Amino acid sequence: MKNIIFIAPPAAGKGTVSDYLIKNYHYKHLSTGDMLRAEIEAGSEFGKEISNIMATGSLISDDIMISLVKQQLIKLSNQNFILDGFPRTLEQAKSLDEMLISLGVTNNVVIFLDIDKELALKRILGRVNCPKCGRSYNVYFEDMKPENENICDDCKSELIKRTDDNEESFEVRFDTYMNNVKSIKDYYNEKHMLSEVMVDNNLTRVLDEVIKEAKND
Ligand code: AMP
Repeated sequence: MKNIIFIAPPAAGKGTVSDYLIKNYHYKHLSTGDMLRAEIEAGSEFGKEISNIMATGSLISDDIMISLVKQQLIKLSNQNFILDGFPRTLEQAKSLDEMLISLGVTNNVVIFLDIDKELALKRILGRVNCPKCGRSYNVYFEDMKPENENICDDCKSELIKRTDDNEESFEVRFDTYMNNVKSIKDYYNEKHMLSEVMVDNNLTRVLDEVIKEAKND
């Protein structure tokens, strides 16, 4: 399988697709959003600096993000990885290329998960997560609701909402994404590395298409 670099707007399902691939294809998951949330959770100085920026839906600076991802990529020893949430700017895409070349990592595919804005907003507003195991639920979709309201089916913890999962922050995140995505797509298209998968609520089809793109043949 190839390493996967996901480019996607908020709520396109990068996390859900990644979870499936980790369980079934033993990928290492590198999610920049999770890395940043872990810093906030830990109460580090860096976490305090970024929490307001993240809550509004704005981007953390390229320099910080590039250095964060570099540290994680260096730690991987030949394990296949999913990069979820990076690159989000053309600058990050170019730096990522340099990092992968210098690490000798060549077997990569960039998968662009596309989703209608309306569906993405509905997903964001209904999304709740388990703080313990990370499982994601959605109260607006019957098959994604927890069995008991607000309680994780697996570990029985109380479910929480991300502070940036509100309409105001979503608008900023979606617009920021739209402003940057064209140049990133053009960049990877020129390198013949880009695949596109249209996302809807048919998760089986989405997974099948992602797996097809990630297979080596
Ligand atoms: P995500 O979990 O991928 O939706 O990311 C949540 C938030 O983390 C984003 O809205 C940004 O504020 C920040 N973030 C995550 N990845 C990046 C990145 N590559 N560049 C800048 N900011 C990022």
